[in-house]
Amino acid sequence: MSDHKQMRIVKEIKVDLDKCVACRACEVACSGFHASPKYSSFNPARSRIRLIMDMLKDVYVPVRAGEYTPAECTGRHSFKINGKEYAECSFCPTSCPSRDLFKEPDSGLPLKCDMCEGEKIPLCVQVCRPGALTYVEREEERVEELKLGDMEIGLQSLVNRYGLQSVLDSVTRISIKS
Ligand code: SF4
Ligand code: SF4
Repeated sequence: MSDHKQMRIVKEIKVDLDKCVACRACEVACSGFHASPKYSSFNPARSRIRLIMDMLKDVYVPVRAGEYTPAECTGRHSFKINGKEYAECSFCPTSCPSRDLFKEPDSGLPLKCDMCEGEKIPLCVQVCRPGALTYVEREEERVEELKLGDMEIGLQSLVNRYGLQSVLDSVTRISIKS
């Protein structure tokens, strides 16, 4: 990986926890948008935004899928905000081995929010009627580390699970067949 400086539009989705009513429309919309063909299925397990909730504590946290990691972290913390208790992992966007979130249910491959590439306003924001999600853009100059693309993240996950040689063997078999 290398570093380079550039002006760029930073896209963000702000979350107002107090406005979330746990309707889960964001999960449905995201899964439909990323289905293949588009909108052919709606399965929240395939969504890149998930509602982490604890009804007894009145805690609802929409979290968008972030980076993939092959190992669990060691620095977990719970939080108390405005009198509400948020459990460990409540705000974490990572696709990791300690939970089922942000993994494609059939393949187990990691899912990551892509800000609904090609859409002016991300789908989860469009359907969030209570206004818990707000889309914002800002321009900034920053040193950006080149990140892995979706394909590389998927390959890295396969290599971690099955080993490099096994993945290479499979690729060789596929290329011979095609
Ligand atoms: S659509 Fe908005 S209100 Fe509904 S669960 Fe998602 S974030 Fe919460
Ligand atoms: S921005 Fe798009 S890809 Fe990301 S969580 Fe929202 S609907 Fe899903």
